[in-house]
Amino acid sequence: MQTNTIKEGKAKKFHWDGVSDSCELEFKNTLTALNGQKTEELEGKGVLAANISAKLFEFLNEQNLKTHFIKKSSDNTLVVQPLTMIPLEIVVRNYAAGSLCTRLGFKEGEKLKKPLIQFHLKDDALNDPLLAESEILYLEIVSLEQLNQIKNYALCVNWLLTTLFEQVKIGLADFKLEFGFDKAGNLLLGDELSPDNMRLWDNFDSNQKLDKDRFRQNLGHILENYQIVLERIYLALAKKDIQTPAVPLKIRLYIKPQAGLLDPTGRTLTDSSNRLGFTEVEAIKAGKMLELELNDYRLNLIEDLCERILVSPAIEEYSYEIVV
Ligand code: UDP
Repeated sequence: MQTNTIKEGKAKKFHWDGVSDSCELEFKNTLTALNGQKTEELEGKGVLAANISAKLFEFLNEQNLKTHFIKKSSDNTLVVQPLTMIPLEIVVRNYAAGSLCTRLGFKEGEKLKKPLIQFHLKDDALNDPLLAESEILYLEIVSLEQLNQIKNYALCVNWLLTTLFEQVKIGLADFKLEFGFDKAGNLLLGDELSPDNMRLWDNFDSNQKLDKDRFRQNLGHILENYQIVLERIYLALAKKDIQTPAVPLKIRLYIKPQAGLLDPTGRTLTDSSNRLGFTEVEAIKAGKMLELELNDYRLNLIEDLCERILVSPAIEEYSYEIVV
């Protein structure tokens, strides 16, 4: 049965008939900060945020990172796949800004020694509290495997967007992602990718803000700066392929026999432990861990490599984590 759903958030409106494989995400002109306490309507903001999001999602799709984006359908509307959203906000940081400075005393503009991932519960009533990974698992928001998948995904998005923006002298200080599951249960990146939810600094300088901090801090010239971001993205996308990363991507790949299949090594280790008096040992399962270093951050490459060379999918299963 068709049920028209319109969900209205602070910055976007979502339209779905409840049955189709696509829905519409309309970008509003509203700017909000301080969990909605400060708001302003700014004609033209929605169009800019929609255009920037469309370009960045298209770029990620082309890099084989799955996102909900299908196409743009009007100036301020994207056609996207309907997702069952995970109530988490995933923040990735490369430079100190915002709440990292207010909570932990970092100096704004300081480059972090490695990317930092944080999670917030998406809950306005609770003021989107910061969540520990143990709390995410305790609340059963996602499984451990899904949490690892989200972290790997977020680090790849970070690398791809950082590299893209670096080409046009913009520093990606931090950003917020939201994920969801499609009908088949695949994890996809949803929501938006615009200066409303990322901090972008011209020339890597925290005094040259191109993002919503201009609104948060009453710096003015919001549209002009969003427009600069859009133009630079066009420039970056017109340049050649994405660069090779300066630091190789380190992956830890865990391979183990599929559940229920014979595991002779594990069996032998269990028997020997018992024979030598370690009667507490009920079972040992044997797998292996491989460490890889890659000069490309695309997740599908890792999955291709595993499925075609490193793992025997008929008898083994694998998981991996990006080491940061
Ligand atoms: N962010 C967001 N939505 C939120 C909170 C944060 O999109 O509800 C983005 C924000 O624009 C910044 C990053 O997440 O790019 C980190 O934000 P931070 O935790 O520093 O909080 P803020 O300073 O925005 O309150």
